[in-house]
Amino acid sequence: MIDLHLHTTYSDGTRTPEELVLLTAGNYQAIAITDHDTIDGINEGFLTIKNNELSLKLITGVELSSVFQNKEVHILGYGMDLQTPELKTTLRILEEERIERIKKTVDKLTEHGLPLEFSELPLTGLPGRAHVARAMVKKGYVRTIDEAFKNYLTPDRPGYVPRNRLSPKAAIELIHKAKGVAILAHPGLIGLELNDSFLENIPVDGIEVFHSAHEKALTSFYEEFANKRHLLITGGSDCHGKKGKDRELLGLVDLPKKYFDKLLEFMDGIA
Ligand code: AMP
Ligand code: FE
Ligand code: FE
Ligand code: ZN
Repeated sequence: MIDLHLHTTYSDGTRTPEELVLLTAGNYQAIAITDHDTIDGINEGFLTIKNNELSLKLITGVELSSVFQNKEVHILGYGMDLQTPELKTTLRILEEERIERIKKTVDKLTEHGLPLEFSELPLTGLPGRAHVARAMVKKGYVRTIDEAFKNYLTPDRPGYVPRNRLSPKAAIELIHKAKGVAILAHPGLIGLELNDSFLENIPVDGIEVFHSAHEKALTSFYEEFANKRHLLITGGSDCHGKKGKDRELLGLVDLPKKYFDKLLEFMDGIA
């Protein structure tokens, strides 16, 4: 199997890179670690592979948050040179921004009558709304993580704090500067129509066609859309661990090998 969208404890996943690598090594040919706005977990993944002499192929990845027309657009980057100074600098700034945002988030919830402190969050790496959602479930404020997002943590809800994120173009440029491939993450979750004018504004190299939130018909639509335009095709479960979301997503997505091979070929071309 191949899964190119996985989160770890370095952002809002609940498995460490080591756990993820050891868990997938038997069944997977390749995985990518794509934490939100950080590349800090990738080395641990490579070390685990080396120390255990595993044949699993680990693809370097990141998932950058950006905003376009008031919607969240996530851009996945693959195969970056992790030492690129501008990449490192920008990611540090985004990390600071995340900390500030989540501090404001817990303050807003507290003012709203749901007391919560930053120090109570189950943080292991860069903070995100998912940590707040999990803490809210634990405190009994909501029953599910989804409920926390729907009722409190999304635009126009009492615990929502916007963030000065990158534009999609800036995210793509950053990935390209680091010699990486830029892919539009889960288009089915954005809430905007994927068409040619969208692509003019958000000029990605490819599209995440296969994703745990894409129904079969939608997947086929994106696959045809990407193939027609000679865009790269990727896929991943977007798993955040066993208890990272309301349910386990690992194993739900397997990127067809023909698309993975094309991605590798493309990455070789820009290395
Ligand atoms: P943030 O990076 O802090 O803006 O939070 C984005 C994260 O929240 C992503 O990992 C999403 O997968 C997660 N997320 C967004 N909406 C939901 C939802 N309804 N249920 C569970 N997780 C969600
Ligand atoms: Fe997440
Ligand atoms: Fe995402
Ligand atoms: Zn993700």
